[in-house]
Amino acid sequence: MGNAAEIYALRYATMGSRSLQMNFLQPDPHDTTAQDLDYFVWLIRTPGRDLLVDTGFNAAEAQARNRKLTRNPVDALEAFGVRAADIRDIIVTHLHYDHAGNLDRFPNARFHLQEREMAYATGRCMCNGLLRHPFSVEHVTTMVRHVYGERVTFHNGDGEIAPGVTVHRVGGHSDGLQVARVETARGPVVLASDAAHYYANLQRRSPFPIVYNIGDMAQGWETIERLAGHPDRFIPGHDPLVTELYPRVSEAADAYALHVAPKRSFAT
Ligand SMILES: [Zn+2]
Ligand SMILES: [Zn+2]
Repeated sequence: MGNAAEIYALRYATMGSRSLQMNFLQPDPHDTTAQDLDYFVWLIRTPGRDLLVDTGFNAAEAQARNRKLTRNPVDALEAFGVRAADIRDIIVTHLHYDHAGNLDRFPNARFHLQEREMAYATGRCMCNGLLRHPFSVEHVTTMVRHVYGERVTFHNGDGEIAPGVTVHRVGGHSDGLQVARVETARGPVVLASDAAHYYANLQRRSPFPIVYNIGDMAQGWETIERLAGHPDRFIPGHDPLVTELYPRVSEAADAYALHVAPKRSFAT
């Protein structure tokens, strides 16, 4: 466990008043209420350096989309004791507005992105309003500028970012969606991002309705389970349950430690 890292989920926004149809393509008829949606960025602390997974959105984007921004992710990091200028590597799971904003706030970072995500976000599918909706042209344009500035490392499928930290393309929700696998003291933890918004999306094999390719999404759930090796070691991208299962570790920031065992287990 020489490379054991720590992982912290920093919650920066929320969205309530959701319907079941907003959370599941085919809601379970036994469900009565829909869960809220939480928004996170994830900080990976390895012995040598800090890495960030996703960059969230800012106040202007929150207002445009009617989301409740608690605190800009850059300020959340600051409250947690991490300066944006000190972040050298950022894994961008995909380019949706809630994962790829604030790209201009990390002056010294290199961005790790799947080649297919850049192609998807700048290609013909963006001529379709439904597929385009979760993207912000400003975010995508900023990433294009980072490409021209030689600040993007493209990955195709699997890639290593640091010792014990790897990325894996799963697609599905967005064509170039990647998940991150992190070696921790409790074993490998998979940050699933939007491969599973909620635990239930993966556990029930029930897609979230924003989806580019359902087949790839279904394969992605298998991939996540294989990479994690245990049902307690995958972390969904937007589930408020994460904040109940894992200990809050900061007074100043809304941060939760994911490298420790959850308070209750999903293992049967
Ligand atoms: Zn997304
Ligand atoms: Zn998302």
